Amino acid sequence: MSAPVFLDAPLLVDRAAERRDSVDLAAAHAVVVVDGAVLVRDGQVVRLAPGSHPQASLVAFLGQAQGRDLALVVPEDGAQGVADVLAAGAELVALRPLLATLDARHDGALDRELATTAVALARWHGNHPRCAHCGEPTVPTSGGWVRRCEAEERDHYPRTDPAIIVAVTDADDRLLVAHASTFSAGRYSHLAGYVEPGESFEQAVHREVAEEVGLAVADIEYVGSQPWPFPASVMVGFRATAVSLALSPDGVEITDALWVTRAELDAATEAGRMVLPPAGSIARSLLEQWRQGAAADVGAA
Ligand SMILES: [Zn+2]
Repeated sequence: MSAPVFLDAPLLVDRAAERRDSVDLAAAHAVVVVDGAVLVRDGQVVRLAPGSHPQASLVAFLGQAQGRDLALVVPEDGAQGVADVLAAGAELVALRPLLATLDARHDGALDRELATTAVALARWHGNHPRCAHCGEPTVPTSGGWVRRCEAEERDHYPRTDPAIIVAVTDADDRLLVAHASTFSAGRYSHLAGYVEPGESFEQAVHREVAEEVGLAVADIEYVGSQPWPFPASVMVGFRATAVSLALSPDGVEITDALWVTRAELDAATEAGRMVLPPAGSIARSLLEQWRQGAAADVGAA
């Protein structure tokens, strides 16, 4: 069982934003991202030394940590650009499985932050080659934290789209778990959804829970948040209490939903009938926090 991870301490990487316009990125250590996967060796994010960077289609300033400047480098030739490093035992690991392995390491927090930021920035650049206003090409500036439309002298900033995720419990402290149509077979998690224009996070919680399973909730409490660049989200985690019990999954986004006790959840996962969200996700952290709540209650009694 992994302990809940909520990112409530300061950033481990000093982003040194005041140096973004002047930093020498060729002298930085490079974190390499190819198609959303990070260059990793022996479970750690590789920092390529200055002078050994691949030819890059994008370089951005990630900040400084452990006395070094760190840069995101996206190789022009994709994986081919780091073929020598791969041949020497490194690998390109997609961010989701990488977060799961880093979450299990006591020293994984810095790499988690570097990998998440690097993938988020790389995706944003990859998805925004043109100005959303006039359609002309944009170019990276400010150490890769701005894309500029030179035709209009208009700056575009990296997008982060908030999405809520909510652990709903009933009066008996059973947890609502749901299977979404986009999940792999047997996967169950909390309800989640994008915050829409014109609503607060809490209103998004009310709306999503009502839309997806027809339930009203109360006592919405913020728990924590997590950057989730798939492709550009920050997941904002809440707890809430159901004011009714009947569940009516919408059949489109949510195909199954049920209330489980801790013992029922354990039995279902042990029997392989239910697969939980992976370690390293806020979904798993919310779930483990609920699971461990029983032990905390017993301890306090
Ligand atoms: Zn423009």
